[in-house]
Amino acid sequence: MKIGFIGLGNMGSPMASNLLKAGHELVIFDLVQASVHKLLQQYPGKVSAAPSPKLLAQGGLDLIITMLPAAQHVKSVYLGGEGLLASITPKTVLIDSSTIDPQTAREVASLAAAQGNVMLDAPVSGGTGGAEAGTLTFMVGGAESDFHQWKDVFTKMGKNIVYCGASGNGQVAKVANNMLLGISMIGTAEAMSLGVSLGMDPKILAGIINTSSGRCWSSDTYNPYPGVLENVPSSRGYTGGFGADLMLKDLGLAAEAAKSAKQPIPLGSLAQQMYQTFSLQGHGGLDFSAIINLFRKK
Ligand code: NAD
Repeated sequence: MKIGFIGLGNMGSPMASNLLKAGHELVIFDLVQASVHKLLQQYPGKVSAAPSPKLLAQGGLDLIITMLPAAQHVKSVYLGGEGLLASITPKTVLIDSSTIDPQTAREVASLAAAQGNVMLDAPVSGGTGGAEAGTLTFMVGGAESDFHQWKDVFTKMGKNIVYCGASGNGQVAKVANNMLLGISMIGTAEAMSLGVSLGMDPKILAGIINTSSGRCWSSDTYNPYPGVLENVPSSRGYTGGFGADLMLKDLGLAAEAAKSAKQPIPLGSLAQQMYQTFSLQGHGGLDFSAIINLFRKK
């Protein structure tokens, strides 16, 4: 298949790489030229660069995947005279894997449907490690028949491909999951900091938590305490990974969605305030596990 890929950041680059490794031909676009050049150099002859989303859309592609930071970026890439929808032919299928609010996902998908284009929302979980290993979970919203028709392409980038229901429901699942992740990361950070400040070795403490009832993904796969795990952001100065500002964005999405459903989310709201504090202190660009620095002595 000839696939367009827009948004080659921490997640998009490894996802695009996995599609290339699976034998697909890619046309790519990102505002950051260095990310484009890196893939062009890594996969000569299998990937080409488009100068804009509009020109990428005119390339007669089977599928376009977007992996962008937030709803405003998705709107700017899809809508308006320079956007994808204005230039694609009806045969091109659209998959947005960015994490955005369900409402925007539904709006863009219904505009696509009105002009005859299939669109699926397919946010992911599994982090940059999962993107590199091709083991992401995809939470997919849209028509069930379209999900089954396009499921195979997700398997090149992920391991668990889950149909969540109508358009926007992939984003609903993602918002609930990430609110829990934000909360559990703060809980893990708090518990690790308490144990270490009271005299425990962080690796031994993590080992106990990970074989006890406190175990969670934040403790056993992405532990925020430096030196406990190799190859995670906490062991490389909280670089790479999932930015604290992106977690703040997701907690904001959860708060907005909860308001519309009149659903109380007290711990989600507290987590949002803590990430807001962390961001205000100038740390929004660090991986979200760096929230542990709120609890540790400098
Ligand atoms: P990122 O900031 O590393 O990458 C986003 C990319 O989009 C950047 O390369 C940026 O230049 C590009 N971009 C922005 N606006 C653009 C535009 N108008 N046209 C073309 N390119 C544009 O973000 P990321 O970590 O890759 O995350 C992407 C999405 O995936 C976010 O919605 C995030 O919430 C979600 N997500 C991230 C992780 C993670 O661990 N990083 C995990 C799950 C989900």
